[in-house]
Amino acid sequence: MFRKSLRVKIVTTFIIIVHISLFLSFGISLLITEREVTIEKPFLAIAQDVASLLAITEPERRDQVIDILSDYNIHGEMIQEENELPFSLTEEEAAPLFQSGISEPLFLNTEEGPVRFIGVPNIDNTGNSMILKVDFTGFLKVMHRILLIVLFSVLVIGSLLILLVSHYIVEPVKKLTSAAKEMAKGNLSFRLKHRRKDEIGELMDSFNHMASEIQKVDKMREDFVSNVSHEIQSPITSIRGFTRAIRDGVIPVEHQKEHLDIIYQETLRLSKLSDHLLRLASLDSENHPFHPVEYRLDEQLRRIILVTEPLWIKKNLDIELDLLACRVMVDRDLFEHVWQNLITNAIKYSGDNNRIVVQMENTGLAVLVHIMDTGRGIPKEDLPYVFDRFYMVDKARSRSGGGNGLGLSIVKKIIELHGCKIDVKSEEWKGTCFTVSIPL
Ligand code: ADP
Repeated sequence: MFRKSLRVKIVTTFIIIVHISLFLSFGISLLITEREVTIEKPFLAIAQDVASLLAITEPERRDQVIDILSDYNIHGEMIQEENELPFSLTEEEAAPLFQSGISEPLFLNTEEGPVRFIGVPNIDNTGNSMILKVDFTGFLKVMHRILLIVLFSVLVIGSLLILLVSHYIVEPVKKLTSAAKEMAKGNLSFRLKHRRKDEIGELMDSFNHMASEIQKVDKMREDFVSNVSHEIQSPITSIRGFTRAIRDGVIPVEHQKEHLDIIYQETLRLSKLSDHLLRLASLDSENHPFHPVEYRLDEQLRRIILVTEPLWIKKNLDIELDLLACRVMVDRDLFEHVWQNLITNAIKYSGDNNRIVVQMENTGLAVLVHIMDTGRGIPKEDLPYVFDRFYMVDKARSRSGGGNGLGLSIVKKIIELHGCKIDVKSEEWKGTCFTVSIPL
């Protein structure tokens, strides 16, 4: 549990990264300081300065100056060619100092490093030369120590800070985890409160959005189940009631036909409901068979008007067709269902002797099909919901006409599956116009 915690992971990762970076930077700093200290320029500059200092110092006080300089790791010895060489230098190493014509300070050993020997020729203009031993080893040690202290402080302070900061990073993750657990328990109204504007804040907003979407879907599922049960229950109740009444001889023989007729209508309603539910389930599933073919849309519309003839003849409706010869590329059977539904609705919700117009329009980008009627219309407040599942403006009237409020939702689903659009405009008691737009 402890080893798996995100906080522990963040802190250990940080400490590992800091360790690696500190080791690397320590190595790089060592290389750089050593290189800086061993280049020849500072050594020669020191030798020049010592020479200038001794030149302006009285001969009897030079030993005193040399003594003071040794406190700064600059050791000097005045020599003449015949003297013994100091600092265990070999004659070969010291030889360049005594060559004639040399006037500038020069290195006496070729080995690079923090300790160098420099010869300063003819330092007091009386034939005395000087050999200087400049030792930067102590200086380097101090530098390394300072470097180590700085890097160690970075490690300690950084680790303490990351311990504090990790709390800030891990806390919202813990909150999200407990929110997800709440939701898993079924508490869909649980929301995360925060004031963060960063990515974690965005994640929390997405979580809240997801929760409200799930809540909506859950509500829809509940409504759907209760609607389905209601739609099944009401015809079953009337079938049961009428069959029992006929069985028990409550209904006189001369009225039995009417009641059998109702039973028959109710079975039709149940069968239509199961047909619509199956169609919706199939359209909802990802793998619905979908076969677009190219065909003449006007011919399809004309045929549906012919098929529905008995319905519109019965109401003595005036049907007007304003069609264009136009080919479309959609699933023919599914669109057959769309037109059938819209046209039978137009007939169903029209009064006797009304007019229905089926009109096609080509905008260049799409073909529009308007199905207009002069029927009872849809009240403004119901208009946004007519495509919702089981929505019926007037439940009693729709049911008596064999409706179940699924027709338009199936139509909309088919239209959306094809990437097409459907719109509705309606005015109560004036009429309704459904417009389907199919991209060309
Ligand atoms: P139903 O099976 O009840 O007809 P639909 O989904 O086809 O279900 O339609 C939903 C509701 O929209 C209907 O109950 C009806 O009130 C309204 N409606 C649909 N088409 C029309 C129309 N052409 N004129 C008036 N109302 C309509």
